[in-house]
Amino acid sequence: MFVVFEGGDGAGKTTQSRLLAEWLEEQGRTVVRTRQPGGTALGTKVRELVLDPSTGDVDPRAEALLYSADKAQHVAEVIRPALAAGADVVCDRYVDSMIAYQGAGRVLDPAEITKLARWATGGLCPDLTVLLDVDPDDALAAKDLGDRLESAGESFHHRVREGFLALAEEDPGRHLVVPARGARDEIAARVRDAVTRLREK
Ligand code: C5P
Ligand code: MG
Repeated sequence: MFVVFEGGDGAGKTTQSRLLAEWLEEQGRTVVRTRQPGGTALGTKVRELVLDPSTGDVDPRAEALLYSADKAQHVAEVIRPALAAGADVVCDRYVDSMIAYQGAGRVLDPAEITKLARWATGGLCPDLTVLLDVDPDDALAAKDLGDRLESAGESFHHRVREGFLALAEEDPGRHLVVPARGARDEIAARVRDAVTRLREK
């Protein structure tokens, strides 16, 4: 099974993906836990390049292409082989992040970004996308606003949130939307229930 965690900065994706991976492993599953950008050597370099303030302003189209390169490499090198070997893949961020950040956030045409992201991933779709929905005012207040993107401005992060929510609304069958402010263990339980329901299908 391929499960993706999405949501704005500070939503708790990393914690929740770790909890889900641990639960799957307890059941004897082999789990590959990974992230975008950065799940490969190339992706790690792309991540450093894009997030390093010394890179300077990155044009939105250049940014979309860099994230696309990360995705293409990650799907080819990590995700497809893991799924083919029968493992579960739990990934922080995927195509929805690109549509929300580069589409809604950086105001590129969402239809074009969707096409680009699908091309980069060869159309590989998660079985489940968990959207940890976070109010940017809460999340960013609690975080160090150090890196280039996290300090990109409040309206940017509000557009990103709306972008994520619109994607979940378009495709409710594949999305679980959970308010990120909830208790950590309750969120984890809801995610486990959704995974269990999917398996029974
Ligand atoms: O989720 P993570 O902390 O790994 O993301 C790193 C940064 O990259 C975040 O600040 C996020 O806002 C940004 N990002 C982005 N566009 C994407 C994916 C991540 O701007 N498609
Ligand atoms: Mg972050």
